[in-house]
Amino acid sequence: MNFDDTPQEAAFRAEARSWIAANAPRQYEEQLRKSSLGRTQLKDANILEVAKAWQKKKADAGWACLHWPKEYGGRGASPIERVIWQEEEGAFGKLSAMFIIGHGMCGPTMMAFASEGHKRKHLPPLASGERIWCQLFSEPAGGSDVAGLRTRAERRGDDWVVNGQKIWTSGAHYSDYGILLTRTDPNLPKHKGLTMFFLDMKSPGVEVRPIKQANGQSEFNEVYFSDVKIPDSQRLGEVNDGWNVALTTLMNERMSIGAGVATGFPEIFEFCSNLMLEDGLAIDHRDVRSKLANWAVKASGLKYTSFRAISALSRGERPGPENSIGKLVAGSMIQDVAMYALDLQGAAGALTGEQAELAGKFQAMLLRAPGTRVEGGTDEIMRNIIAERVLGLPGDVRVDKDVPFNEIPTKGRK
Ligand SMILES: Cc1cc2nc3c(=O)[nH]c(=O)nc-3n(C[C@H](O)[C@H](O)[C@H](O)COP(=O)(O)OP(=O)(O)OC[C@H]3O[C@@H](n4cnc5c(N)ncnc54)[C@H](O)[C@@H]3O)c2cc1C
Repeated sequence: MNFDDTPQEAAFRAEARSWIAANAPRQYEEQLRKSSLGRTQLKDANILEVAKAWQKKKADAGWACLHWPKEYGGRGASPIERVIWQEEEGAFGKLSAMFIIGHGMCGPTMMAFASEGHKRKHLPPLASGERIWCQLFSEPAGGSDVAGLRTRAERRGDDWVVNGQKIWTSGAHYSDYGILLTRTDPNLPKHKGLTMFFLDMKSPGVEVRPIKQANGQSEFNEVYFSDVKIPDSQRLGEVNDGWNVALTTLMNERMSIGAGVATGFPEIFEFCSNLMLEDGLAIDHRDVRSKLANWAVKASGLKYTSFRAISALSRGERPGPENSIGKLVAGSMIQDVAMYALDLQGAAGALTGEQAELAGKFQAMLLRAPGTRVEGGTDEIMRNIIAERVLGLPGDVRVDKDVPFNEIPTKGRK
């Protein structure tokens, strides 16, 4: 594989670089560069407003959602051009975090299943960041086993009426729209009685309750639905075929999370290069060097694994399990990195917030890292995917797969 830019790619890179140099919000660059997993904040500025303004500026100039078709707010760019853009956007790309679910999962699902009218109405403001979208799948009774969900949608004339509860909905507190997976026929086996919709998050009967996390932030929410009306025109896919629609979303979820997953390597390398221990710089220690060397190998393995996925995309193929591998390795690596940084800080590692070393960067990373190992599929689910699809091992035991949903034994129903 040749990693050098072709002449066409080099021209694209130069154009992207000069546009970013002239237009990016430079006053925040240093803060964004220093931010890391679990800690992307701006002093004296509302990050949501800064992110929306940057996204809109990109959209107006044709640099938003590069791989989307132009008529839906994108640029019709190739997967490689998208990667080049991400490389050039650098730290400013961290401002895209609140759009990842909308751009990476809801947009592609709408593109595949919404009517042409809805696509033309909803996709451009989603691309430009004027509307933020969330993904309403997980429930207390359906996380890894998302098909175990219980939120009901019942047909009433031209509308559907939704009752139930979702949980862990990232960004629901600032979202304008969401895609919602519901149960429409409990008499069918669990994967067969589901239907997908999209809805306005300001609809009467939608209540969003933020969840306070260990790192003090509230990135996700509980969302309650009480007699929420959704027009049938906002159904995505056929009635009771929601599982197929959800597979499109989940496939894109693994792609977008996997493509951008953090490892913590640049942060730990910089930290060890500057940390003065009693007998010299940390990076000059044999055991520190050995740890860094191991992580360097993993980080570059992850980089080339993600290139494999990008190559598959650029050949028009569906990426394989590369992103499951990437997420599995990077999730535990970032946790190890944060733990090691805290060990090196000694007693000071127990501090958090502004008074801690580097204003608590690694402490925030450590508290956020377990979420990386859960969101978009837990480590165990990633291992199942790799075992079944790569190694060809026997499938996970799925005893309730063909049983009507309302006959599956639960706590209250034996
Ligand atoms: C930061 C973050 C953001 C999220 N954002 C969203 C969002 O925007 N929208 C949304 O819908 N959801 C979201 N989620 C929810 C996420 O998708 C679920 O948490 C995840 O799918 C796991 O489900 P669960 O929490 O119910 O755990 P469970 O499925 O109850 O799992 C509990 C434990 O059992 C293990 N386990 C489960 N099934 C198996 C199996 N078959 N084999 C082996 N082990 C198994 C799991 O690995 C885990 O260790 C988010 C989660 C996090 C952490």
